Amino acid sequence: MDSNVTIGTRFPLTIKRMDINGAGIGYYKRKITFVTGAFPQEVVIAQVTAVHDRYLEAKVHRVKTASPDRIKPIDPEYGKVGGVELGALKYSAQLAFKRDVVSQSLAKFKPAGWQHYELRPTIGMDQPIHYRNKAQFPVRLLDGHVKAGLYAPNSHELIPLTDFITQRPLTMKVVNQLCHIIETLQIPVYSEKRNRGAIKTLVVRESVATGEVQLTLVTNGFDLPKKAELLAAIAKDLPMVVTVMQNNNPGRTSIVWGKESQLLAGQPYITERLLGRDFLISPQAFLQLNPDQTQTLYQLAIDALDLAPNETLIDAYSGVGTLGLSLAHVAKEVRGMEIIPEAVADAQANAKLNGITNAHYEVGTAERVFPQWLKQGFRPDAVIVDPPRSGLDSDFIKALLSVKPAKFVYISCNPSTLARDLVALAQTYNVEYIQSIDMFPQTARCEAVVKFTRK
Ligand code: SAH
Repeated sequence: MDSNVTIGTRFPLTIKRMDINGAGIGYYKRKITFVTGAFPQEVVIAQVTAVHDRYLEAKVHRVKTASPDRIKPIDPEYGKVGGVELGALKYSAQLAFKRDVVSQSLAKFKPAGWQHYELRPTIGMDQPIHYRNKAQFPVRLLDGHVKAGLYAPNSHELIPLTDFITQRPLTMKVVNQLCHIIETLQIPVYSEKRNRGAIKTLVVRESVATGEVQLTLVTNGFDLPKKAELLAAIAKDLPMVVTVMQNNNPGRTSIVWGKESQLLAGQPYITERLLGRDFLISPQAFLQLNPDQTQTLYQLAIDALDLAPNETLIDAYSGVGTLGLSLAHVAKEVRGMEIIPEAVADAQANAKLNGITNAHYEVGTAERVFPQWLKQGFRPDAVIVDPPRSGLDSDFIKALLSVKPAKFVYISCNPSTLARDLVALAQTYNVEYIQSIDMFPQTARCEAVVKFTRK
């Protein structure tokens, strides 16, 4: 190893390809180097940001030879905050990259027949900006002012933001106004260094259909100075805010949400409309972050599932029931499970709200509840799964393969765990196609719908 390389060392580097996290890969004296913000075929002056035994991490100091796909980033904060790795890449190249991430992940895990899977071109957005319906921004005091924003990569240094390329404008408007209110009322905001102050994080979620906004104040203990004045100012200046929740997350931690919440004002949910149905959403419940693409994603999943009337369906990892309830009218019975109790309560309420009587939602892990239902004699004709980034639990896969439902669709938000899970699944199922869809433009994150047929 070259001991002369330290943090800050600069050298020219030719970028060969991109890794699945959106970093450019080059080789410095044969050592693999991941360069954030560098693209294939570029020559950059890389500046080392971390030295590891077997690899280096770096950022772009200067671009010497630019990729034809490089554009001037739209966001002025590009490069300062994490999470928008592809902000300087032409959108068509972002979409090609995401399909390639699926391909790279398959090549790594090599599930049966992987070379022959049909990988469909990634479905993108017409306007790939300002799409996120939720802002989760830490709040800090910077130079005497209350600021919200995102952290610089690999740090807890707050980069204040009043506008951001991925955020829907209403989410930012609410965040900005809240900062103003908190500053005017001089409510102490959290200092990580001193582990003091009340307000840590603002979580703002917008319903596109109704314009309602849900606010959660994550606080360091339940004590919130000037609570009454704060709620009065929110009611006056931000009438679109229909929920004010407080979430208690005391002490220094990098986990955003604490365990206990209490409603400070308004109703505990907002209503979003998807594929013609209304869905109540509690602050703790998951909701897809890109409302424009969500309906496209769900339609892809529904088409892939191709449910026939009178078939039974399991909607695993069901959230507030958005997928299963969109299919209940063509199914004999829908059953779903989900670990967040509030989300399950929402799913049950959402069934009622939409006049659906053949859907049943239960609290529990998919890997525990699914085998239980099988034991009770339930045999689903169709299964749809939409797990978190960790993918499917092996006990879930075991249960699924024990009954081999004829129809099976996997919505994945992580091609790596998808490819891993395919190793077991492809023993029993053929992969008919993998359709990637861009839910997170400007970022390296990639979503895909997999249609299976039984062998
Ligand atoms: N299909 C829903 C939710 C998908 S997100 C939608 O489109 O909105 C994944 C969901 O799985 C989250 O709501 C999360 O709380 C839940 N979850 C995470 N681990 C789980 C597990 N082991 N079993 C069941 N649900 C789980």
